[in-house]
Parts: sequence; C-alpha cells; structure tokens
Amino acid sequence: MENSTQLRNWLDDMALAHPLVIAGPCSAETEDQVLKIAHELKDTDVNYFRAGIWKPRTRPGNFEGVGAIGLKWLQKVQQETGLKTATEVANRAHVELALEHGVDLLWIGARSTVSPFIVQEIADALQGTDRIVLVKNPVNPDLSLWLGAVERLHSAGIKRLGVIHRGFSTYEKTKYRNIPEWQLAIELQTRFPDLPLINDPSHISGRRDLIFDVSQTALDLNFDGLMIETHTDPDNAWSDAAQQVTPRRLVQIMKDLRIRKETD
Ligand code: PEP
Ligand code: MN
Repeated sequence: MENSTQLRNWLDDMALAHPLVIAGPCSAETEDQVLKIAHELKDTDVNYFRAGIWKPRTRPGNFEGVGAIGLKWLQKVQQETGLKTATEVANRAHVELALEHGVDLLWIGARSTVSPFIVQEIADALQGTDRIVLVKNPVNPDLSLWLGAVERLHSAGIKRLGVIHRGFSTYEKTKYRNIPEWQLAIELQTRFPDLPLINDPSHISGRRDLIFDVSQTALDLNFDGLMIETHTDPDNAWSDAAQQVTPRRLVQIMKDLRIRKETD
C-alpha cells in the first residue's frame, strides 16, 4: 500500500463536486420503485445511484433482494437518468454479473469484510478492474480486518479503491444502530490519507432523524463523500425502513450541510 497516493487521484480526477454523494434505496424492490427514485434523484447533487439487489440479511426469512433481474433495472437507471450506478457484491458470481451489466461502482458489505476468504474471492474476480470498488468497515470494530480487505483489493490491482465507514455493532444501548467509533475511520484515514473515505450515516444512525448530524460530523472530519439511503416511500421500504429519507429530504440535507474541503 506504499503507493496509496495513486488511490486518491481517481476521485480528484473525476472532477465531481465535493462531497461525492451516493444515494438510493437500501434495496431494489421493483422496477417502478427503482426508476421512480432514480428520476427524483436525477437533477440533484447525487453522483451515484445505489440499490442493493443481493441483500445479506442477518436473519433468514426477511427480504433477501431481487437478485440479478435488478441489474437490468440499474441499466435502465443509467439510460433514463444518466446517473451512475452502485450495488453490493458478496461473491464471485455477483461480481461477474455486476461487471457484465455495467454497474459503475461495486461495494463490499460489512458482513463480507469480516471474511478474508470471501474478500479474496471478490478481489480475484475484480482483478484489474477500473470500476470503483468501496470496502465497508467490518461489522465489528476491528481495524485490521478493514485494512486487510483494502490490502487484498489493492493487491488485485484495483485502481479506484475507497472505503465506507458504516459504524460497528455493539451490545451497548446507544442512540445509534451501529456506533460510529469515529477514531477507527480517522486511524484508517491517517494510515492511508489518499484512500477516499465515504461515510454511511444511514447504517450508523438506523433512524432518519440522525442522518443530518452524522453527515455533518463526517464532513467536519474531512470525509470525501456520503452514502445515504433514499426512498420515495421510506416507511414502506422492504428493508431498513426507519433510516431511509425521501429524495426531498436528501436535497434539504445536502443544502444545509456545511461543506468544507481541505485541499492542502
Ligand atoms: C446496505 O448498504 O444496505 C447494507 C446492507 O449495508 P451494511 O453492509 O453496511 O450493513
Ligand atoms: Mn440498508
């Protein structure tokens, strides 16, 4: 990772407005739902449209995603709105399908980052890709696991690599769904200052009224971007209903955030 300076450049080179904004529903549910949300996000600060199509649910019996059919819906999002697309991949088959269907940004979820075997499998499948690949922190507050996943992907020659801070599970009773443990994200940023660092206030908060404050803290700490779950009918979302915001609320959040970027 000694040449990590190369990593930051891809984000700067893309000349996107700061911060990078990734938004869209936790899960793709139907074609209509995906397209409706994407159209509402089209002329906003959003750069990448996210939608999970393979959903790693902690307990079985919940909605586990629409699967590969959702890739066609993401292609329609690209065609109809011009938005770039993002989804979670959790094994080699997911990666191959996502690459084939032109998904622009792939991320590794918190439940996958904990497993070196699965991370290696994903890294091998992604070998040399120029798509953006972001690694969420593992569910548990273990910096080494997070770094290890980044190193595996870096060794696979992935040029546009970054990380997502989504908080850590805990037995403590807190207002958060996943406690931020900001110091871990900062430690990672200190070790690899050139690796773009995205905050995911949705999975940290678990409830929509905390999204703004968590986002502001992240920007104050010089994060490079935000991933915010957004749904036109959040209360009836098929997953993570309590934490999703409407496109309208997202626009307001982006307007109200104090954005600061230290360029040097
Ligand atoms: C998600 O982004 O919807 C998701 C499942 O996130 P995480 O891996 O952070 O739990
Ligand atoms: Mn979610």
